[in-house]
Amino acid sequence: ALTTGIVGLPNVGKSTLFNAITQAGAESANYPFCTIDPNVGIVEVPDYRLQKLTELVDPKKTIPTAFEFTDIAGIVEGASKGEGLGNKFLSHIRQVDAISHVVRCFADENITHVSGRVNPLNDIQVINLELILADFESIEKRITRTAKLAKTKDKDAVAELEVLELLRDAFEEEKPARSINFTEEQQKIVKQLHLLTSKPVLYAANVSEEDLLSPEDNEYVKQVKEFARAENSEVIVVCAKIEEEIAELEGEEKQMFLEELGIKESGLDQLIRAAYDLLGLQTYFTAGVQEVRAWTFKKGTKAPQAAGIIHTDFERGFIRAEVVSYEDLVDAGSMNIAKEKGKVRLEGKEYVMQDGDVVHFRFNV
Ligand code: GDP
Repeated sequence: ALTTGIVGLPNVGKSTLFNAITQAGAESANYPFCTIDPNVGIVEVPDYRLQKLTELVDPKKTIPTAFEFTDIAGIVEGASKGEGLGNKFLSHIRQVDAISHVVRCFADENITHVSGRVNPLNDIQVINLELILADFESIEKRITRTAKLAKTKDKDAVAELEVLELLRDAFEEEKPARSINFTEEQQKIVKQLHLLTSKPVLYAANVSEEDLLSPEDNEYVKQVKEFARAENSEVIVVCAKIEEEIAELEGEEKQMFLEELGIKESGLDQLIRAAYDLLGLQTYFTAGVQEVRAWTFKKGTKAPQAAGIIHTDFERGFIRAEVVSYEDLVDAGSMNIAKEKGKVRLEGKEYVMQDGDVVHFRFNV
């Protein structure tokens, strides 16, 4: 399963946020494909569409889809020098598909900051630099080898060398691979390099309880947003401490607490949805009277493989999919009316699943 790793310097609120994630935790029995590991938190993906479908179909139960956050352990500073726990930090990052980087944007004199004072941009760069150094090292050897081949006019080597040199220039300026605008061809080459700094990143700006309502007034948040824009990354504002409290609540209680706080959606829910997007994940629904359920697929997945997410038999015996978009179904008001209106399509093996598809798979056993 695709996962997002949570990273951050000590005392930024990383454990508090991860705690909120495991508190909010999904019923793991529903998600046998998820990893059971103390460093992995399984979260349900908030989706208003699921609620709407439930009202429409009135099923016995409703099951949201879920995915994983991994708490990345290990020591950050000096990690690229390859010592002990630092090494572990890098190898954990290598295994995740995207990164949620928690940044301290709250001032609290009682909580020590590792470098003496709150400075989010500096904090970000401490971690990014370790990753940049590790990537730098891994391409250096490759540059020597590829340069030799490129001299023989080997076409692939020439193209790769060009990419490697762009990367090296960026790394020398302490910029991550994701800040470079590569062509599509070049992106394929970059992918094979398995770099740490080409993984997509999302910054979680951890603000104080007071700042949660008007994060625009927080100078630190402004700085982080500006920085993130320059490297094509997103920022979500959270207050880890409050998230921990919200995570203990459910349903109406949660709604009431959010209203009291004056916010529409918890920071954690926003973070979950942003991380889901960042991983290139989308949702389709099955909507029967027994169960209305959301399922996660990777953008670009075709119908038989999407069916296989429910059960391998569905993929093996795939015949076709009956598909209606969420909007069309809600417009129609019921599956039967949607059918009468011709909104339910029959799709075959080559159909590329779309976010929000409501599907019924037909298959041979
Ligand atoms: P970690 O070292 O990054 O895992 O940080 P922790 O989650 O252990 O947090 C360090 C300290 O900061 C703890 O005392 C937390 O209670 C406190 N803290 C975390 N988030 C917030 C927050 O949003 N506001 C305030 N005021 N304190 C926080």
